[in-house]
Amino acid sequence: MLIVMRVDATQEDIDRVCRKIEELGFRPHAMPGANRTAIGITGNPGAIESGQFEDMPGIAEVIPVTQPYKLVSRELKPDNTEIHVGNVVIGGPEVVVMAGPCAVESEEQTLRIAEHVRSAGAHLFRGGAFKPRTSPYSFQGLGLEGLKILAKAREASGLPIVTEAIDAESIGMVEEYADIIQLGARNMQNFALLRSAGRARKPVLLKRGMSATLDEFFLAAEYIMSEGNYDVILCERGIRTFADHTRNTLDLSIVPAVKRISHLPIIVDPSHGTGKRHKVAPMSRASVAVGADGLIIEVHDQPEKALSDGPQALLPESFAELMEELRRLAPVVKRSIRPSPDH
Ligand code: PEP
Ligand code: MN
Repeated sequence: MLIVMRVDATQEDIDRVCRKIEELGFRPHAMPGANRTAIGITGNPGAIESGQFEDMPGIAEVIPVTQPYKLVSRELKPDNTEIHVGNVVIGGPEVVVMAGPCAVESEEQTLRIAEHVRSAGAHLFRGGAFKPRTSPYSFQGLGLEGLKILAKAREASGLPIVTEAIDAESIGMVEEYADIIQLGARNMQNFALLRSAGRARKPVLLKRGMSATLDEFFLAAEYIMSEGNYDVILCERGIRTFADHTRNTLDLSIVPAVKRISHLPIIVDPSHGTGKRHKVAPMSRASVAVGADGLIIEVHDQPEKALSDGPQALLPESFAELMEELRRLAPVVKRSIRPSPDH
């Protein structure tokens, strides 16, 4: 159920409704919007008797929620969610670009690539310190040491950091060091991890599971939000299909599908989405054209020596060229990309 407050409702009216929800043993989620506040209710096993709220001051409407998810839905919050990370806004008019290597391999490699992507105009720096690998024999990441290197890269480049947490152990460390906590495709339905991310105080970048439907993707985001963390960025990264010309099938149609139902920002990962360097720039341009709020792109200056995902990494000069193209493309779809500080 969803309670829509009147435009002229006071904070006291809102607090009173929230207290009432708590007294009933449920959890209120007040979402201030451009015109009015809506309050979502979670924790209720079944329908709630709406009559209990009828006479409370400040309430405009009590609406039963028709979807299996509540907090991600535009029914609760009609206007887009904007997530502030440093001076970057994700979900606003500007398209945001996150870039960096798949994995933090060493301090030199990380600082070098951070400087490349910064000067090309990236807005955030990515790099995995904890790597979820298909094979237990593949490079698993530098762990805490990798997070410390990322912190140095942030200091040197001024770019906020996005990096992945893979389990209950790593999420606390990632929350401490990163600006955005990434949850990977393989963990999209790790419900315990989603709940932990929901209790974290940093925004969460949630990647779509490789066989997840839209509803499953939304419900994963709902897990995070139901714990009180409303700063969730969705990320399409390709799904498993029969197609074998590409590592995954990048499902760009999910961008308008998400926008129609949810207020959450959605970005696209054309690197994991295609797995092949030559497809990354075309699919990045397509992502901006289709209305994505941002991109997350793997860049490496020595991809042949990369410890993971070398074949899909853009070289720094190709990334810089792509940024330039995207800056020119974005205005066609009424968006913009902040110019690089070096241009
Ligand atoms: C990554 O971003 O490095 C990664 C492992 O992505 P995904 O979870 O989408 O495979
Ligand atoms: Mn990767």
